[in-house]
Amino acid sequence: MIDYAPFEAWFVTGSQHLYGPEALERVRANSEAVVAGLNGSGVLPVRVVFKAVVTTPEEISAALREADAAPNCLGVIAWMHTFSPGKMWIGGLSRLRRPLCHLHTQTGKGIPWSTIDMDFMNLNQSAHGGREFGYICTRLGIERKVVVGHWKEPTVQERVATWLRAAAAWHDSRGMRIARIGDNMRQVAVTEGDKVEAELRFGVAVNGYGLGDVVAHVEAVRKAAVDALCEEYAASYTMMESLLPGGARHASLRDAARIELGLRYFLEEGGFHAFTDTFENLHGLRQLPGIAAQRLMADGYGFGAEGDWKTAALVRSMKVMAHGLPGGTSFMEDYTYHLDSGGQAVLGAHMLEICPTIAADTPSCEVHPLGIGGREDPVRLVFDAAAGPAVKATLVDLGDRFRMVVNEVDVVEPLAALPRLPVARALWKPLPDLETAAAAWIHAGGSHHTGFSLALTAEHFEDFAAMAGVECLFIDGDTELRRFRRELRWGDGRRD
Ligand code: MN
Repeated sequence: MIDYAPFEAWFVTGSQHLYGPEALERVRANSEAVVAGLNGSGVLPVRVVFKAVVTTPEEISAALREADAAPNCLGVIAWMHTFSPGKMWIGGLSRLRRPLCHLHTQTGKGIPWSTIDMDFMNLNQSAHGGREFGYICTRLGIERKVVVGHWKEPTVQERVATWLRAAAAWHDSRGMRIARIGDNMRQVAVTEGDKVEAELRFGVAVNGYGLGDVVAHVEAVRKAAVDALCEEYAASYTMMESLLPGGARHASLRDAARIELGLRYFLEEGGFHAFTDTFENLHGLRQLPGIAAQRLMADGYGFGAEGDWKTAALVRSMKVMAHGLPGGTSFMEDYTYHLDSGGQAVLGAHMLEICPTIAADTPSCEVHPLGIGGREDPVRLVFDAAAGPAVKATLVDLGDRFRMVVNEVDVVEPLAALPRLPVARALWKPLPDLETAAAAWIHAGGSHHTGFSLALTAEHFEDFAAMAGVECLFIDGDTELRRFRRELRWGDGRRD
């Protein structure tokens, strides 16, 4: 349900007529070579299309207006090959709605010491033209990514690729539909928020549906479809013996399969990209959707438990950004701590709903009591998350604005087996350390629910938040608590 193939980004080169037609021909040829090089690198997930060398205010406005109107254009990559006077850009840039990436590069890597003359200097003056372009973008208050370096460098290509992934998620967000099945978990604060503001800011449409709408789809599921899905479970996971055909709990597996299929039909029929549910409202469902939510997430749906539509939206955007990258992405919750001074860590999990894309090994399909919700025992996939660097992010509503907080973490293997813990889980060490990371997160008002990814980096969120115009705070190896708290005060417009 996530596909980058239709998308493209437009490449626009700024110049002017001062240097004569011959120079402009060189600018065009060099631009085409840069675009071909970027596309040929294999690093970019989306095709870049060279559009034009723009030399007048009219050409600039026309190119950017066209980019805004093209439904599959994710954004504009601008390069100032020569000097391109900034006032020419005011009309076009002030109306541009698509994300902007300023590629601050130069055709050749090195200075040709023995042959360089003033013609070369005039043709290759990004150092000069890029600053003029930067000034006018800053003056206009335009959020953009600035990527500096030679276009053949993998690090430069990676930074453009990250921006393209964020732009794909931003495009997806502008049309995102979230089904909120039931309301919020009662009395919980952090999962609440302003749905009107969310649609204004992110383009995310969040609407509520009664359980009956889902139950009708669950009841309509045919026996043959349940049979087939139970077989798929058995082929995909290590099955608890009692869940297999003839086993004492096989009926629970069939109920779970029926819920997955019904929920899937409901989401497909409504054209939804993400959903929430809550254990306090399960009327007509035999179990809280466990394996259903887990497998729908694996297919690219965003999910938030207990009515948490903000995290559902975030998980969906993260799924889009991570599309095709190694490592999975899941809904997550900070659950319990290991506060041993030898190696403090967080054990993250949820009642059921952790995405199997983050699993280290084949998940185990099990059924256990839930303890809350008052329904029958739900079927779920149990596993440990793969080890490695990861990020977790939260989106909170501060009343006057949304805030994103991102923490870099290292997922580690569990220090010992967890034979009695019947849920999927991840053990991680937050950067810079647990004390600083948790205190910073708490000061920032970050939620216990997060989007969690072994595929993404903090830079994906930096780019996405810039596109959305949302505050984004980072907790990483360089975070120092006093400085972080100062950042919070500055963000709030309070004096230090
Ligand atoms: Mn929760």
